[in-house]
Amino acid sequence: MIQAPKGTFDVLPADAERRSVLESHAARILGAAGYGRIETPTFEATELFARGVGEATDIVQKEMYTFDDGGGRSLTLRPEGTAPVCRAYMEHGMHKLAQPVKLWYLSSFFRAEAPQRGRYRQFWQIGAEVIGSASPESDAELILLLADVLEAAGAREPRLLISSLGTPATRAEYREELTAFLKAHADELSPEVVQRIDLNPLRAFDAKDPATQRTMREAPKLLDRLSPEDAEHFQRVREMLDDADLSYELEPTLVRGLDYYTRTVYEFTSEALGAAQSTIGGGGRYDGLIEALGGPSTPASGWAAGVERILLASPEPPAVASPVDLFVAIAAPDPTAARTAFNLVSEARRAGLSAQLELAGRSLKGQLKQADRVGARYVALVGDGSPVAFKQMDTGEQTDLDRDAVIPTILRGSRL
Ligand code: AMP
Repeated sequence: MIQAPKGTFDVLPADAERRSVLESHAARILGAAGYGRIETPTFEATELFARGVGEATDIVQKEMYTFDDGGGRSLTLRPEGTAPVCRAYMEHGMHKLAQPVKLWYLSSFFRAEAPQRGRYRQFWQIGAEVIGSASPESDAELILLLADVLEAAGAREPRLLISSLGTPATRAEYREELTAFLKAHADELSPEVVQRIDLNPLRAFDAKDPATQRTMREAPKLLDRLSPEDAEHFQRVREMLDDADLSYELEPTLVRGLDYYTRTVYEFTSEALGAAQSTIGGGGRYDGLIEALGGPSTPASGWAAGVERILLASPEPPAVASPVDLFVAIAAPDPTAARTAFNLVSEARRAGLSAQLELAGRSLKGQLKQADRVGARYVALVGDGSPVAFKQMDTGEQTDLDRDAVIPTILRGSRL
């Protein structure tokens, strides 16, 4: 039997319902804050991600699904949404609109990662971007909106971690300082950390080795090296989160997997997801991205949260079976009865009722069972002529009705 590719999944109807509830929360919360929905193509020029995500990142190095379009152009299934949204902003001249431009999306993304619970090769993200504002308010607004979406979804105990990365120049200076510190303390560090000092000195903060951890407590922190302007920006974001009563933890070593972040960065995590894959969503400010993509220098900020991770972190809601107003059963396998039944269902739907028709050739008993299974409020049993037997399922009461009286009776909601 042919199976779905590794790391992908089918969304079956019960799941689809939970996903569309989440989508409607996102649409309501982000729509009310003035964010317009955007949808970009599933694939883009590979160069967009090479430049926009960063050549040196894991995503670009190892995780992209890249292919030749047959005409010598290299295309890539989108691994993330920010670079495509920025491309669309430039391509459609959105810088000419009143700034900032606030956009949100719910789309699928593709990364060739090792699949596990909460990590797939095709997954969905809800994302929001504010392009054309350098204000700390836009960072705080975005964080609060993500908190609102997670709360509406019922995500269990999300923890918010925030930090500031400053500017690329501050970061480069800090990296040198940290590298020098690590080299000076090499004899107190684990061999793995020593080996990676030049490659990625920041990783030393994540080491599990107790001696390394002790040393790292004394290591210089990027947050203490921010320029006065960057520190002020971060302070204002924090004040707004405090005023909104949103609790957060400072995580001075928060490093995100994409190269383009500047200043504010954050992540929401949930224990419900397990330790390895605990991030529900995250984002930050990316003031340098649009310029890196060939546009004018444009400040921007945004986040993305994984739909599957939000759902994994949220307890299952009680099943809300969609109500079926009318189930039309057929008394005898007779073409006239079948046609009457079909027309009755069509008319009921046109009248705004939810109606279902017997489609499997069941016995009368089987049809009533099916009506029960789908939770029908009424059953109309159609024979080869009028009247039809009309049954109210909760009371079990039954009466004969003229065929044309069935829909008005249900619409009136009158009891039999
Ligand atoms: P990122 O674009 O890497 O910051 O990811 C943002 C969010 O998308 C993460 O916090 C996850 O919730 C989700 N996500 C990222 N990669 C995957 C994946 N391979 N499978 C499922 N969700 C993912």
